[in-house]
Amino acid sequence: MTSAFTAFDAPYRPIRAGLFQHDPPALLGSVCPDCSTRVFPARDFCPHCHTHTAPESCVLSNQGAVFAFTIIHQAPAGRATPYVLALVDLEDRVRVMAQVNAAPQSIFIGQPISLMFTQVGTDEGMPIVGYVVVPQDCREGNS
Ligand SMILES: [Zn+2]
Repeated sequence: MTSAFTAFDAPYRPIRAGLFQHDPPALLGSVCPDCSTRVFPARDFCPHCHTHTAPESCVLSNQGAVFAFTIIHQAPAGRATPYVLALVDLEDRVRVMAQVNAAPQSIFIGQPISLMFTQVGTDEGMPIVGYVVVPQDCREGNS
């Protein structure tokens, strides 16, 4: 697991502010105080019950399973293909889109995954940190 969090060992910039925390590493969502619906990214309204009560911030699970996926064969310049983009259902019933860091032929629906926070780019020398998912049976040694 240590390889998953080395992205935070040096100064970095998040891929987008407010998407995740780094201690402990986890995605940040919001939870509705009326119907308990959790969403990612955090919102200031509940898309399920439309209550007027403001949702609260919450830390999301780092574990889940692949709901659906596609293999990307064409990408912007500088990005290697093919790669896998998946919708994953986290344990707390939040659906998140993320790149899967694994060989396309090894991915399957229902596959247990873990979130991993890693460098996804560089901006003027500053590492950009984002999140990907990795199959739970190959967390070690896959980047
Ligand atoms: Zn609600």
